[in-house]
Amino acid sequence: MNLPPVPPELPEPPLPSPAAGPSDAPLPGAPSPGAPLPDAPPSGAPSPDSVSPDSVSSDSASPGGPAPADSGGARPRVRPPRRRILVVGAGVAGLTVAEELRRRGYDGELTLVGDEPHVPYDRPPLTKRFLAGGLPEERLHLTSSAALAAADIAWTPGRRAVAADAGARTVTLDDGRVLPYTDLVVATGVAPRPLPGTAGVPHVCTVRTLDDARALAGRLTPGHRLVVAGAGFLGCEAAWTALSLGCAVTLIGREREVLPVLGARVGAAVGDRLRAAGAEVRTGRRVAAVREAGPGDGLTVTLDDGAAVAAGTLLVAVGSAPDTAWLAGTGPDLSDGVRCDAGGRAAPGIHAAGDVAAWYHPGRGRHRRLEHRMSAAEQGRAVAAALLDAGEHPASVPFFWTDQGPHKLTVYGLPGPGARFEPDTGTVGDDRFAGRYREHGRTTAVLAWNAPREALRLRRELTDESARSGPRAGDAPAEAGAASPDSAPAGAR
Ligand SMILES: Cc1cc2nc3c(=O)[nH]c(=O)nc-3n(C[C@H](O)[C@H](O)[C@H](O)COP(=O)(O)OP(=O)(O)OC[C@H]3O[C@@H](n4cnc5c(N)ncnc54)[C@H](O)[C@@H]3O)c2cc1C
Repeated sequence: MNLPPVPPELPEPPLPSPAAGPSDAPLPGAPSPGAPLPDAPPSGAPSPDSVSPDSVSSDSASPGGPAPADSGGARPRVRPPRRRILVVGAGVAGLTVAEELRRRGYDGELTLVGDEPHVPYDRPPLTKRFLAGGLPEERLHLTSSAALAAADIAWTPGRRAVAADAGARTVTLDDGRVLPYTDLVVATGVAPRPLPGTAGVPHVCTVRTLDDARALAGRLTPGHRLVVAGAGFLGCEAAWTALSLGCAVTLIGREREVLPVLGARVGAAVGDRLRAAGAEVRTGRRVAAVREAGPGDGLTVTLDDGAAVAAGTLLVAVGSAPDTAWLAGTGPDLSDGVRCDAGGRAAPGIHAAGDVAAWYHPGRGRHRRLEHRMSAAEQGRAVAAALLDAGEHPASVPFFWTDQGPHKLTVYGLPGPGARFEPDTGTVGDDRFAGRYREHGRTTAVLAWNAPREALRLRRELTDESARSGPRAGDAPAEAGAASPDSAPAGAR
């Protein structure tokens, strides 16, 4: 099959900097008031303006010399506490916050804590070129330890935040260290949802981290039998890559078509291509049981229709969820990630960005999380600006892309489960087509298949009301995820 060359503006990672967006990155829009937040800090929490033991000096002790004496004797003078910004989560969102703070001239303390041992890296290639062996590990890196040191960012790898105290403004790490902060940024991403009954079962894996991808890549040898539970973006991408490596692939999805987020027509087109490439695609099915077939024999995966599928490896890709237990009691609503206003503020002294953050979307009048690479960087930039009172809120059109084998799909906006795809250029099933998602008479998103320039053209049609706010009907990421754990919720990976 001859595909037209993909124009270079498709933002194929790795990107030069996590702060970089696509070349057509939209300009930020007008500031929005966002959702209401509690006015008062949690009891006992110092505000940046409050008096603290190390923020009070007498005039005589002040390095700036005595203040004019308008009354007799030394009078305490209030000095803001030394600013300490603590970013937890060293993925693209957390790194972008830190780098953007420095870029904007912030010269206070800045700490970046991440539980992975690696320098911050990009995840999208983990199911694509990196998994296929076509991208060296260094190309995933978004920075280097030398660059972090040069920017005076105190990077603390391999350490997990396990508790936070909003009153004392401290975060406790898993080695017992207690880090004080004046501002906390939560950028901890999401973790894969487990498949019930598979805990501790050998040959069962997920793909979220570099270590996951390394382990999976080591298994994908020609002839290996890979069963993928979950036909969302990650499951389908991994299936394509495994096929390209000569594996025997079975893909299991609960919905009628794969990639249900993109609607039945586009999903069916992807399913057809996967089948044509050699995958066995079982849609409308669930995994009912997983057991070891015998020593050295891999697994038997039993589906809800009783079919038994032999697997050397079972890749579980049934969605992901934020882990915010360590933030319990700090103030923000943690029912689905960290609920924030339209600028990423979650509570006094706490902001959040990236996959973990459920920002308020003014046009839609509700909060939602986005699990998109570009949104994570964009929110990171916005949080840095908010911390420095620059007050810019991103108002760009949500954007994501996915590589389905040789096919590059580009999406602007949020399709939503009720939206109907209407082709504009070509037709579904062609090697190249583009069109709109329509719902209640509005265009809610546009999609291009091997046609990124068409996506850019159609994106211009998305208005504030539709694209920036997304669909109203059925627009419920948490609920969608619960109802359909095989697939990413609308807008999610
Ligand atoms: C395999 C894969 C492929 C993808 N492909 C695409 C794609 O094609 N297009 C697209 O738009 N998006 C894609 N995405 C989604 C995109 O990568 C994410 O949206 C993006 O990585 C989110 O960045 P983040 O910084 O919010 O979270 P993350 O990148 O997950 O970073 C969060 C970091 O915080 C760490 N952490 C978690 N809890 C703690 C704690 N308590 N203490 C300290 N550290 C903690 C995590 O281990 C992690 O290192 C893909 C994701 C994956 C996994």
